[in-house]
Amino acid sequence: MGENAAATPRALRNIISIIGRRNAGKSSLINAICGQDVAIVSAQAGTTTDAVAKPYELLPLGPVTFYDTAGLDDEGELGELRIKATRKALLRSDIAVIVCGEEGLGEPEKKIIDEVRSKSIPFMIAFNKCDAGGLKKEDADFCDKENIRYVAVSAARGQGIDELKAAIIETIPEELKKDPLLAGDLFNEGDTVVMVVPIDLSAPKGRLILPQVQVLREILDRNAVGVVAKDRDLSAALANMQTKPALVITDSQVIMKVAPMVSEDIPLTTFSILFARYKGDAEIMVKGAEAIDRLADGDKVLIAEACSHHALEDDIGKVKIPRWIEQYSGKKIEFSFCHGGDFPEDLEKYALVIHCGACMLNRVEMIRRLRECVRRGVPITNYGVAISKTQGVLERVIRPLGLK
Ligand code: SF4
Repeated sequence: MGENAAATPRALRNIISIIGRRNAGKSSLINAICGQDVAIVSAQAGTTTDAVAKPYELLPLGPVTFYDTAGLDDEGELGELRIKATRKALLRSDIAVIVCGEEGLGEPEKKIIDEVRSKSIPFMIAFNKCDAGGLKKEDADFCDKENIRYVAVSAARGQGIDELKAAIIETIPEELKKDPLLAGDLFNEGDTVVMVVPIDLSAPKGRLILPQVQVLREILDRNAVGVVAKDRDLSAALANMQTKPALVITDSQVIMKVAPMVSEDIPLTTFSILFARYKGDAEIMVKGAEAIDRLADGDKVLIAEACSHHALEDDIGKVKIPRWIEQYSGKKIEFSFCHGGDFPEDLEKYALVIHCGACMLNRVEMIRRLRECVRRGVPITNYGVAISKTQGVLERVIRPLGLK
C-alpha cells in the first residue's frame, strides 16, 4: 500500500466510471475525491474522445482508476464519438457512479440507470451541487424505492466526499474484494493430493508452470501432502498409495488419459477448472461451454490468449482446441485469435470466446473480460473447460467444486 498509486499496474485496479450529463460536475467530483484542484487534462484536451483515466488510492480498498467520461447528452459528430467512448468505458467498468447536477434525476439519468442495469453494472448515484438547493425529496424517494445507493455531495464545497468514497467501496462487488480460493477448500490437513503434470514439448525447460507451483504451494501451506507425477506414471503412483488421495488435479491436456486411471470415487479436477474459479467465475465458464453444443457451420469462435508466445507445432490454442471443437461439434468453424492485452471490442460477432488459463492476468482483469462477454451476451469459457467438455468429462471434473 506504500507504493505510489499511479505506479500500480492498471490491471490491479478497480475501474470506476463517473457518468452523467455534461454539466453535472463529474470532473469536479473526481477532483474533490482525489483532493486536487487541478482539472483533469488529457494529452489532447478537448479533442480526445476517450474517457480520461485518473488513478487514485481509494483507502482502505486500494488502487482504483476513475474514468471521467463525456456527458451522455454530448452533441455533434465529436459528441457522438465521445458517447461511444463512454459506453466502451462503461463496459469495462467495475462500477458506475451516476452524477446528477442541480436538476436532479431527470430523463437522461433514468436512461443511464436503465442502461447500466441492463448490463448488470453495479452503480450508485451522487447528487452533486447539493449546496445549491439540497437533495430533492422525490429523488431520494425514487432511490429508496428502487433500492439504489445514493449520497448527496457538493464537489465545490467538499461536502459529503467521505460518504461518497465509502459508498463507492460498498458498491464494488465483494468478489473483487475478497481473497479467491484456489484448491485449499477441497482437501484437509494431512490429506494427499496428486498433481498430474505432463512433461511434453509444451512444458517449459527446467521448471513447472505458475498454476502448478501455486497449487503445490497451497497444498504445503495447508499441511497436506503433494504427490506430483507425469501422466504415464499416474497409475503406478496411485497403486503405491496406502490411502486414496483426497483429490487428483491434472493438466487439462491429458484429461482423456487420466480420467480412466482415476477411480470414480476419487475426486478429479483440472488446473484449468481451479483457475477458472480462482481467476474469475467458474460458473460462467462452465455455462459458456454449453455454447459448444450449439455451434453451427460458419460460426466465429475467438481463441483469446492473455500473453504472446511462440506457437508450437501442435499448439494448444492454435491447433489442438480448434481440432477438438470441430471434431466434437462436427461443424466447420471460423477461428480467430487474439493475444496479450488485445481483447476485441466487436465481441458480439463471436458465437463463443475460449480464453486461455490467464495465468498472466490478475483476477480483476479476468473478471472484467468475463463480464464484458456476459454484458455483450457472448458465451465465454476457458481452454481447460472446453477441453473437458469436448472429451466428455466436464461433469466429473467440476463435481469437486460443487458445480453442475
Ligand atoms: S497467460 Fe494464457 S497464454 Fe499466456 S502462459 Fe498463461 S495461460 Fe498461457
